[in-house]
Amino acid sequence: MQIIFDKVNYLYGNGTAFERHAIKNVSFSIEKGEFIGLIGHTGSGKSTLIQHMNGLVKATSGHIYYNGEDIYDPKYNLRQLRSKVGLVFQYPEHQLFETTVFKDVIFGPKNLGLDKLECELRSYEALKMVGISEDLLDASPFELSGGQKRRVAIAGVLAMKPEVLILDEPTAGLDPKGRDDILEQINKLHQESNMTIILVTHSMEDVANYADRLFVMNKGELVYQHHLKEVFSHY
Ligand code: ADP
Ligand code: ADP
Repeated sequence: MQIIFDKVNYLYGNGTAFERHAIKNVSFSIEKGEFIGLIGHTGSGKSTLIQHMNGLVKATSGHIYYNGEDIYDPKYNLRQLRSKVGLVFQYPEHQLFETTVFKDVIFGPKNLGLDKLECELRSYEALKMVGISEDLLDASPFELSGGQKRRVAIAGVLAMKPEVLILDEPTAGLDPKGRDDILEQINKLHQESNMTIILVTHSMEDVANYADRLFVMNKGELVYQHHLKEVFSHY
């Protein structure tokens, strides 16, 4: 697994009076097993940037390579990219839409066209990984607490067995205990599976405790992308 961004730019409302240059000339490379903490103020471009990684947003200019392949090549399979790069949205409500927790989690693997047994096994495994107990399988996702909803949303993505897991502000709106629990869970996942993790957050604390490398966005630019050891050795 490797993701390369080469001079990526993105303009919302390109060519209109409302044009906004949300991503400015961003270049980086992320390797397998890295845990990246992506921080920056609201409006700095974090959400827009991560939506490029699975092809949800298409760069206005520049190139993106996944495992050495240009994702904007007309022959590239973007559908497959979306199953390899799992994105957990900031608001879990945006990806929970089934009547039960289990149906929500199994939706992803079913959509990949896997057989029923494989889908079920993956779903149970994913729910276990995020710490959702069996008695919640038939509950409505909407009856769950904020932290539980996040876990179910994460499980839905994990059940697709992605190579990269991107989490947009997974701790937003949670109490301190809920925050710690979810971060611990993500960290455990990273350590046990060596999955590449990209954690978007406002909180330097979240990043300092878990990430290997820090990406800082400011007004659409990626202004910092160093290993945390280097950050702390400067102060
Ligand atoms: P956050 O900082 O938590 O990402 P934002 O307020 O930047 O929150 O964005 C929340 C949602 O609103 C996102 O889906 C984003 O794409 C959308 N959004 C943000 N700014 C605009 C805008 N100027 N016009 C339309 N949609 C926007
Ligand atoms: P962040 O996630 O860091 O809060 P975003 O990627 O949501 O930042 O936003 C980056 C910039 O793009 C902001 O100026 C925001 O207002 C703008 N923006 C985000 N989404 C939209 C949208 N759907 N339409 C227009 N502008 C948007």
